[in-house]
Amino acid sequence: MKIRADIAALLHEGHCDSYIARELHTGKRTVATARLHLGIPPIAPAQTPEQAWAAYAQPAGQGHMEWTGPRNHAGTPVFTYRARRISARAVAFKARYGRDPIGYVKALCDHPGCVSPCCVADKPMRQQLDTTFNAIFGGAQ
Ligand SMILES: [Zn+2]
Repeated sequence: MKIRADIAALLHEGHCDSYIARELHTGKRTVATARLHLGIPPIAPAQTPEQAWAAYAQPAGQGHMEWTGPRNHAGTPVFTYRARRISARAVAFKARYGRDPIGYVKALCDHPGCVSPCCVADKPMRQQLDTTFNAIFGGAQ
């Protein structure tokens, strides 16, 4: 069997079949067959949403994190965990604050697409920041 060099390279780097299929625009079955022929054991699926998140979030310096995983139609970082679509920022939020977010979770920093737990805030937190900012600097009345 002829195995594509790009598939073999990503398999040797330790990526999962889904990631490789997505990156190289090929089928998971093709990747799985190549894995079998190369004798590289399959990667166990993530046991928690946090593990799935960690597979896609990469440090981007100064505490920011970039998302290498899938995005929804609006460009928001998301991933599928046990057949559920999950917001990457919601997972980062819960990891930091220990509770589920209220409303959408957004990054407060200006690093494009940041998913760092240090940079995310839910709706009540953003409203509190707006109130504080307006109290200090004066907002539109
Ligand atoms: Zn950030």
